[in-house]
Amino acid sequence: MTRLLFLIADTGGGHRAAATAVARHLETTEPGRYAITILDPFADAGPRVVRRTADLYGPLTRHARWAWGALYHATNSRAAVAVLSASALRVVDRAVKRAVQDARPDAVVSFHPLLNHGAVRAVRSASPGVPVITVITDLVDVHASWACADVDAIVVPSPGGLDRCRRAGIPADRCHDIGLAVDPAFTAPLPTLAERAELRTRLGLYPDRFVVLVCGGADGSGGIPRHAAALAASGLDVELAVICGRNRRALHRLRNLIDRDGHPVAMHGFVTNMADWMRAADVVATKAGPGTLAEALCCGVPVLLTSYLPGQERGNVEWVIDAGLGRYVPRTAQLVDAVAELAAPASPGLARMRAAVRQAARPDATARIAELVRSMARTATEQRPLTTARA
Ligand code: UDP
Repeated sequence: MTRLLFLIADTGGGHRAAATAVARHLETTEPGRYAITILDPFADAGPRVVRRTADLYGPLTRHARWAWGALYHATNSRAAVAVLSASALRVVDRAVKRAVQDARPDAVVSFHPLLNHGAVRAVRSASPGVPVITVITDLVDVHASWACADVDAIVVPSPGGLDRCRRAGIPADRCHDIGLAVDPAFTAPLPTLAERAELRTRLGLYPDRFVVLVCGGADGSGGIPRHAAALAASGLDVELAVICGRNRRALHRLRNLIDRDGHPVAMHGFVTNMADWMRAADVVATKAGPGTLAEALCCGVPVLLTSYLPGQERGNVEWVIDAGLGRYVPRTAQLVDAVAELAAPASPGLARMRAAVRQAARPDATARIAELVRSMARTATEQRPLTTARA
C-alpha cells in the first residue's frame, strides 16, 4: 500500500479539484494500491484565526477584487514569501506536521501555494527521505510562493510557469511542464451529437439549442447575475445554463430568470457534475479560473472570459486571446455580441476557436502527474533503509 498526503486549501475550487483528479486517477488505475489523505490544513486542523482568514477568500474575490490584487502583488516576491512563511504561515506548520506523523506518507504533494514551505519543513523534521512534490494549480502567472526551491519536484502548468520557476532558481531537472490536473470526467472522449442531445435532455436542457454555460469558479465570482440576466434578456436563440457555485446570493437573485420562451433558466448552486455541464455546452462564459479553463479545453468548448482575478488570472486572459481559445468580454454588451456571433449557423469564429481549443487542451496531464507521484513515492520507499521501510 502506498500512502500519499495531498495538501490543499478550499480557497476557490481549483486546489481541491486538482488533488481529487490525481487521487481518482491513481485509485482507478491501480485499485486498492493507495491510501490517499486529502487535507486542508487551514480548515481541518488550523487554529480558528487561520480558518477565518482562509474563509475570506470567497467574499474578497467576489466583492473586493482590488484588495485581492493588492495582496497578491504585495506578496509576489521571494522576500515577501520568506517573511510570510517564517511568520503567519508557521501556524499551519503544526497541522501539516501532525498529518505527516499520522498518515506516515510515502510522498507529500502540495496543491496550494501557501503550503509548500510548510510541507518541506514538516517532512524534513518528521519523515526525512519522503519526497515533497508541488503541483501548481495556476495556469500562466505563477505566484512566487509556488516556487519553493526545497521541494523535490514541481509540476508546472505551462511554459510561462516553467519560466517563473526557473527564474526563481529551481533546477530544470526538478521542473516538469505537464499541465493542469483535471478530473478524468472532463477528458472522456467528446460526446457524439446524439450523445450530447441525450446528455442535454438528462440535464433538463433542450437537446438541440446552442447552450451557453455561465459560471464563475467554485465561489461563483465574476458577476454571474449580471451576465446571465443580460443573455436571458437578449432575445438570442440560445439556451442558458447557470452554475452559481457557492454563491447563494447569486442563485437567489436569479431564481426567477426565464428564457425567451418564458421557461425557467436552468440554474444551480454548487454542482458535482461540472463535466456534464461542460460537455453539454457550446461555449462557457466564466471568470478566467485556471481549473475551469483547463476543463473547458478538455471538453472542446471555447471560453468567453467575463472577468479575472487580478494577479494570478490576468495572464490566463492574455493566453486565451493570443491562442484564439475565446474572447475577453467584460461588458455585458460584449458578451451578448460574442454569443450572437458564435451561435450563428455555421459560425466561422466558433469553428476556429474549436480547432484552437483542441490544440491547447492537455488531457493527459492528470495521468502524467499521477505517474510522477507514483514513481517518486515508489523510488523513495525502495531507497529507505530496511529498518524504517514499511511493508
Ligand atoms: N466547480 C465545481 N462545481 C461548481 C463550480 C465549480 O465543481 O458548482 C469546480 C470547477 O469545475 C473547477 C473549480 O471548481 O474545477 C473552479 O476552479 P477555478 O480554478 O476555475 O476557479 P476557483 O474556484 O479556484 O477560483
